[in-house]
Amino acid sequence: MEVLTQIRDQIAEVQGRIAKAAIRSGRRTEEVLLVAVTKTHHPETILMAAEAGLRHFGENRVEEALSKIPALRPKLADSTWHMIGHIQSRKCRDVAELFQWVHSVDRLKIAERLSQSGKELDILLEVNLSGEASKSGFALEDWPDNVAQSEAFYSEVEAISALERLKIRGLMTIAPMVDTPEQARPVFKRMRLLLDELKRKYPAVEWRHLSMGMSGDYEIAIEEGATIVRIGTALFGARL
Ligand SMILES: *Cc1c(COP(=O)(O)O)cnc(C)c1O
Repeated sequence: MEVLTQIRDQIAEVQGRIAKAAIRSGRRTEEVLLVAVTKTHHPETILMAAEAGLRHFGENRVEEALSKIPALRPKLADSTWHMIGHIQSRKCRDVAELFQWVHSVDRLKIAERLSQSGKELDILLEVNLSGEASKSGFALEDWPDNVAQSEAFYSEVEAISALERLKIRGLMTIAPMVDTPEQARPVFKRMRLLLDELKRKYPAVEWRHLSMGMSGDYEIAIEEGATIVRIGTALFGARL
């Protein structure tokens, strides 16, 4: 099959599933944003996805993004780029230049550096609710029972929300490695509870988005309140 046709079909399939999951959660399809994760894929593939109607793209490595995004910009002027991978503090300037959204703000220092870059950015705070050591994110595996852990996070939230040019829009997480997507559901549920708690504690911040759900578990994430799903494999096939 022609590659463009194949990508179109896969996008339609994913969008159909997103729509159904949104309805199951009592929401409209438009309330869930699809970020197409293009890491490892060629610029031509990204252009095809854009031709098929996608406008939000995610990359996880700064080096790769540097080699792809600037060259694509003239053709994708109306697209939005999302940084979803771990960030080293010395790369913050590049991140701010390349991306409009940063999902992977996982410590105060990164937020401070991004703020210093001088660009307005939409950010999400990445949290680790499963305690998996391999995952980045503010440590909250014992939230809400562990008061010291929760307070440590809240004080970072306060410091970040005071930084100029950064607009906190919500939370992001990567679900734990599990055998079946259903097993990730409790983590997605806790994300929703954490977001509700943050809304109560910090009403001046726009706690709106939950970036959660990938190719294997996005339907469950949406059922539990995801407003942004980050999907690579289900759209583009295996990574190169
Ligand atoms: C790669 C990646 C994704 C997409 O993963 P798929 O399973 O291919 O959909 C989502 N989020 C992050 C942070 C990633 O690194």
